[in-house]
Amino acid sequence: MITHADIGKLLSVRAAGPTVLSLYLRVPKDPATLPGLPDRAGELAARAGRGGTDDPDTAAAQEEDWRIARRMLEVQARQWLGGTIGLFACAEPRLAETIVLPCALTDRAVFATRPHVRPLLLARQRPAGYDMTAAWPERRRSGRVPVPPQEALTAIGLQPCLAAVNQRAARLLVVPESGMIPGYVCQRCAMLSSTGTDCPDWGAAALAVPDLIEEMVVTALEDGAEVRAANDPPGGIAARLRFPLTADGETALPAATA
Ligand SMILES: [Zn+2]
Repeated sequence: MITHADIGKLLSVRAAGPTVLSLYLRVPKDPATLPGLPDRAGELAARAGRGGTDDPDTAAAQEEDWRIARRMLEVQARQWLGGTIGLFACAEPRLAETIVLPCALTDRAVFATRPHVRPLLLARQRPAGYDMTAAWPERRRSGRVPVPPQEALTAIGLQPCLAAVNQRAARLLVVPESGMIPGYVCQRCAMLSSTGTDCPDWGAAALAVPDLIEEMVVTALEDGAEVRAANDPPGGIAARLRFPLTADGETALPAATA
């Protein structure tokens, strides 16, 4: 059981740079294959990118995160046989947490300035035993969230939904179960952007983030919006609005492709 408190506790962790490792991992059923688990996790972490920076101090901190995570897997993985876990590791501020998920999700590793919680939110709304890695028709039935495509108070696609979240207008945000979209968050005004060019503070204050959808989810939740994950949301991502977007926000740019 994943609680709001669990997620809130993770979201309260903040690092100065992209030095928080979040690892979502299916643990094999067969204890004989456990020794291969850290290597599989290490490959995921290596593919996670470096959070948009080549800074050597950041790289060293990420290496330390990985050592913490590897040690946790080596010591504790036996208690998670056949399950899926979320593992969160950071050297500074110190973090070494695991959450057992009630369902099977796709493996994922992310380095960011705070724990990556999107998969936890997805797991919360799925029935126990749900398998995201199962066949497409199976998921399609359980993953559909209808959003009428042409309603006035509806945003369809990445740019309209970014505008909706930035204007605090989202009442319901429907995000895809999988996939990540790299983007930027302004460290002064907290504006989210896929391009990093639409805020006067950019250049000085733009922070690259590995997953814009994660940022949209967290911002929307902070604003009291409902967030749902769906297998195939209209336009890749969609929102129902509390109020119409302002003129700037209504500039309909091409929908998300991720
Ligand atoms: Zn700004």
